Amino acid sequence: MASTKTRARSPKSPTLKSMNPQTGEVLGEIVPIKPEEVSGIVGAARKVQPEWAAIAPQGRARHLREVRHNIYRHLDEIVETITQECGKPQSEALAHDVMPAVIGLQYMERMAPRWLRPDHPGRVIGSTIGLTSRVEHRPFGVVGCIAPWNYPFFLALMGAVPALLAGNTVVLKPSEVTPGVGERIREILEPLPSGVATVVQGAGEVGAALVEAPCDKISFTGSPATGRKIAEAAARHLTPVVLELGGQDAALVCDDADLDLASSGVLWGSFLNAGQACTAVERVYVADSIANEFEDKLAGKLARLRQDGRGDIGSMTTPAQLDIFKRHIADAVEKGATVIAGGADAGRPNADGTLWAYPTVIEGRTEDMDVFSEETFGPLLPIVPVRDDNEAIRRINDEGFNLTASVWTRDRARAKLIASEIRSGTVTINCHAETAGAPWAPWGGVGESGYGRMNGVYGIREFTIPTHVGTNGPVRLKRLFWYPYGEATTETLRAVTETLSAPSISDKLASARRFAGNVGKAFKEKL
Ligand code: NAD
Repeated sequence: MASTKTRARSPKSPTLKSMNPQTGEVLGEIVPIKPEEVSGIVGAARKVQPEWAAIAPQGRARHLREVRHNIYRHLDEIVETITQECGKPQSEALAHDVMPAVIGLQYMERMAPRWLRPDHPGRVIGSTIGLTSRVEHRPFGVVGCIAPWNYPFFLALMGAVPALLAGNTVVLKPSEVTPGVGERIREILEPLPSGVATVVQGAGEVGAALVEAPCDKISFTGSPATGRKIAEAAARHLTPVVLELGGQDAALVCDDADLDLASSGVLWGSFLNAGQACTAVERVYVADSIANEFEDKLAGKLARLRQDGRGDIGSMTTPAQLDIFKRHIADAVEKGATVIAGGADAGRPNADGTLWAYPTVIEGRTEDMDVFSEETFGPLLPIVPVRDDNEAIRRINDEGFNLTASVWTRDRARAKLIASEIRSGTVTINCHAETAGAPWAPWGGVGESGYGRMNGVYGIREFTIPTHVGTNGPVRLKRLFWYPYGEATTETLRAVTETLSAPSISDKLASARRFAGNVGKAFKEKL
């Protein structure tokens, strides 16, 4: 295969800075690729794709196993780079970035060969008309994979691995905010044949060039605003896209919830990764009767979290997200919200490019607030007391968009009923936000949170074209509807249609008799 793995570099391009947002330190600089070089890289990936697709799925899975083993070999550097570039605690780098990537890889390696086997639908009806069907799950060609910075390792691989297993080659663009992690990804992909997975580093214009190349499919994880731009640009090439976008995820704590469990789960579900998670709880609806107790428990547990650089709550990752977090708090307070814990100036003070933000809980969230109309993507949790489940369900569906949502109750039947009425890509019961790391379950959004699915059989099939191979058999039969359209042919076609649509047995039998009387003559008519 042609060698395309080396990233083209330009000495004139402005560099991508790798920063530590906990200290403000510049960790390194990476020279991005020029946007005009992207189409050549996509072209090279297209050249090697047939050779990669010709390897059986089991063989491709063996190559991906080497990638997984490479993660083991480079684990310390990977965790260190994620921790430093994102400003997150090591445990979060492991729990939310590296571990789910490895779980997903191992599961997909094992299951992909099964999920890529051809299907044989329509065995009964197809065979009655003499057509046997085989549906092959063929790759698209080159998949352009564009990743965000919040889980820079996991989400890049979540987009790329199923595409590769399905027989596509991949050109992967990590976020410009985490170029160091992009380099680690490039290193761990090295066991793959040259050109099968190429990492291109750069900002939005490199992502846009990947869409314009064009690729044969785009897998995008990022904000709804960028997702919209990508969908528009891809539409001009008729390139299909899978869009994994943001969320203003809701949690509902019912009046019978285990409040110790719910307060721990919502605390984590809201402030994991300093709230910079597409699945972070951005609004919790709590039954009036237990709202005070829930708030006290949550605030008490929040006070025990450490934000000391190694502890539980990291810093934010980008200055823009810190600004949004502060603006949302100031705006909400001005419009009547009460701060229950934290606040825009709580926690570690910032200096020299550090991006600390302390988890903040407010009560009150109204339509005129920025926190209502925008995803915060920061550690801000509005609590909204509600009268009953019906009010909560209505507000969960109407007052924001859910990538995921969670219901907290001791009553399984009640949970199931509420879950069935929530509009969301995922609904969890008595847990929140961990489901992206469940590689067997479909992962994706509804409405503003995107479309298409990752993970599981849905994730693999997202990167395949179901191709129908229909065979005239088992007998070499001329078809009833071929030329000429003589009288016996028309009668036979009518008799079949009537037999299938007649409401009564006697009508069906009459039609079947007409069929039997004409079908032989109809076939004799055929040219
Ligand atoms: P972003 O949209 O700013 O950037 C994502 C990627 O798109 C980056 O690699 C960026 O360089 C690239 N990009 C920017 N402009 C582009 C363009 N015009 N054409 C092509 N590529 C372009 O998002 P972000 O700030 O990196 O990530 C945060 C967002 O991602 C949040 O909204 C979050 O909710 C969402 N997210 C979703 C999921 C999910 O699984 N659904 C997971 C994580 C994050």
